[in-house]
Amino acid sequence: MVIIMSPHATCAEIESVIDIIHRDGYQTHRSAGQSRTIIGVIGTSIDLDPRDFELMNGVTEAVRVTEPYKLAGRTFKPESTIVEASGVAFGGNTIPIIAGPCSVENREQIIMVAGLVAEAGAKGLRGGAYKPRTSPYSFQGLGEKGLQLLREAADEFDLIAVTEVLESGRIGLVSQYADILQLGARNMHNFTFLRELGEQQKPVLLKRGISATIEEWLQAAEYILAGGNSKIILCERGIRTFETYTRNTMDISAIPVIHKLSHLPIIADPSHGTGRRDKVLPMARASIAAGADGLMVEVHSDPDNARSDGAQSLRPEQFEILMSEIRQMAAVLDRSI
Ligand code: PEP
Ligand code: MN
Repeated sequence: MVIIMSPHATCAEIESVIDIIHRDGYQTHRSAGQSRTIIGVIGTSIDLDPRDFELMNGVTEAVRVTEPYKLAGRTFKPESTIVEASGVAFGGNTIPIIAGPCSVENREQIIMVAGLVAEAGAKGLRGGAYKPRTSPYSFQGLGEKGLQLLREAADEFDLIAVTEVLESGRIGLVSQYADILQLGARNMHNFTFLRELGEQQKPVLLKRGISATIEEWLQAAEYILAGGNSKIILCERGIRTFETYTRNTMDISAIPVIHKLSHLPIIADPSHGTGRRDKVLPMARASIAAGADGLMVEVHSDPDNARSDGAQSLRPEQFEILMSEIRQMAAVLDRSI
């Protein structure tokens, strides 16, 4: 952090700033320019709050020059991280596609969808067993039965299983069935939950919070990393803006920004990102073009009768088109799906 003093700051005001920094255990570098003094804090001062300095007399501005996350940043680890989940790698040359229904509804449905997404080339099967629904009266998922069915369907078609863990008390149970634990957008700010995911070793698909900045998202990843789990895949799933045409606004630019700031892989979820099946394919293409390390897409064998998110679920034939187009795009980028 650097603290820029006002041209009119007195010696006493400059000294008080330096004293506070020293009191917090940091050293300082002081440069006295012609018109003003600039005080640099030496070391990663993540726990210092710029506002504390800006409230002091004689201070014009305090600016962070290092990121408030360390383990998640590229400064700390310049090479990209490849997260391996039961044989499927995210962050390398391949672009794995995870597909499946929003919710596991029954055996027939999940087996049918697993078969068709595997046939089209997906590597992972998604399906919620515990659903975070806005209304308490909406379908909440099949619970453990849903986990069992998801596992059975994934195994039958040699797919990895990805599902959301909605409460920290269920991490152990969901881990018995899933290859990747999805932490949903609504839980991204749940810091005790993030800590607990850091204390276990299953890969975590960390969705971006509905109104989270990229910095807050990376700080959420930092919680998991600080706990000792480095297997994190970030997932851009759209953010809430003033636009209402789409369910969320798919922030494609987050993909190259994350690649610049962090070594962690990032995949894109154009289904929640747009909320409309007619917009999923273009946003999937855009995500891959922007450098996404994978996709998560909702697909249903009968979306008109889906128990959740039918409007954004692709029909089987639409998913086949998506896979064919993404396969061609990946080749242009020297990658494969
Ligand atoms: C989901 O993947 O079904 C889901 C609920 O996602 P999100 O947390 O991004 O809304
Ligand atoms: Mn959904």
